[in-house]
Amino acid sequence: MNDILFPTEEKEEKKLRFEVQKVRKDFPILNQVIHGKPYVYFDNSATTQKPLAVIEAERNFYLNSNSNIHRGVHYLSEKATTEYENARKLVRELINATSDREIIFTGGTTESINLVAFSFGEKYITEGDEIIVSRMEHHSNIVPWQLLCERKNAKIKVLEFDENGDLELQSLPELISTKTKLIAVTHISNALGSVNDVEEIVRIAHNHDVPVLIDGAQAIQHTKVDVQKIDCDFYVFSGHKMYAPTGIGVLYGKENFLEAMSPYKSGGEMIKKVSFEKTTYNELPLKFEAGTPNYVGAISFATAIRYLTELGMENIASHEDSLMKYLVEKFADFDGAMVYGKPRKRVGALSFALNGIHPYDTGMILDKMGIAIRTGTHCAQPVMDKLGISGTARVSFGLYNTFDEIDKLFEALQRVKQMFA
Ligand code: PMP
Repeated sequence: MNDILFPTEEKEEKKLRFEVQKVRKDFPILNQVIHGKPYVYFDNSATTQKPLAVIEAERNFYLNSNSNIHRGVHYLSEKATTEYENARKLVRELINATSDREIIFTGGTTESINLVAFSFGEKYITEGDEIIVSRMEHHSNIVPWQLLCERKNAKIKVLEFDENGDLELQSLPELISTKTKLIAVTHISNALGSVNDVEEIVRIAHNHDVPVLIDGAQAIQHTKVDVQKIDCDFYVFSGHKMYAPTGIGVLYGKENFLEAMSPYKSGGEMIKKVSFEKTTYNELPLKFEAGTPNYVGAISFATAIRYLTELGMENIASHEDSLMKYLVEKFADFDGAMVYGKPRKRVGALSFALNGIHPYDTGMILDKMGIAIRTGTHCAQPVMDKLGISGTARVSFGLYNTFDEIDKLFEALQRVKQMFA
């Protein structure tokens, strides 16, 4: 990886300083009392809280540097453009892409997938073609493909998961046919926390010359992602799930595909020359960034990436891994709860239900005890259908969560159980 923005020695030294109580001071929102109780935030898969550095970066930018990018010759416009393009470099370094041209800023995961569904779909999908998605996808990695298939008279095929919540990879080669044009699969399930073997999926797919899109919305904040190692053709994620503001996200795409695909949105900035006779498109990545992009979001996103990199992605992963092990052990010792799935590796999120108690009731009562979890289908209705349930209660971790908070959760769950006894 090209570490131009973080000299190695400095990073090593900073890594040693990851201490959760110290880190929590960077997130003042956590330090409040809700319904008379210290706040416990376990809804990080939905969105993460923002460190002061990110909040201040956004404020400082508006106070001192705001100007539209790529347009002006004046000082602030050039400064803003440089910061925006530095943010792109930082994303490229984070995921180890080969070139800045492969990094497209979008509004988030959903927009990135829609971009591929439209632009890749227009270029490569014709009647009778097939797209494979897994049953554990978030709706945003299902519906854009369904709409594409409706437009093109193509077909979706489904890769199943087993009773542990692991994808049935052994059946993937049989699912792939000569008509398969793309596989779209999540890196980590937002409902079950299952970590998918994306390298193996890509290997199988590429053996059949099929490109792969990986939905990294629940992976990029928890683990080191290396798109060259995975060798995926597209990788998508959202800033707001990795401690950055809402409204900014990324589409990574291999240059050969992005070059071949036509723009999804059109307007200013994505063109080279416009005339009524013929319009030519701009170079990558601007070809896919029509109009004024969320440059403030991208610049604040860069601060979030710096923040995470300074803490050390390995340190974050190791802390969250310990939290997950502790959570699973606590559930094993807790009577009257059901944990959904037992995947090979679980990261970030865990779904559960208390026996005989609707997850919504569990969530409502926990809220009154100051604990924020999520309840429902988690935008993954096919997962719920397969499990034969209407929804789950979900705990999901961020880098600032603690063992003490997990203890508080179980004290609260004990009370919920007693209330319904
Ligand atoms: N995919 C997964 C796996 C997700 O968890 C989410 C968000 N819950 C999305 C896609 C959509 O992300 P966004 O709403 O940020 O576009």
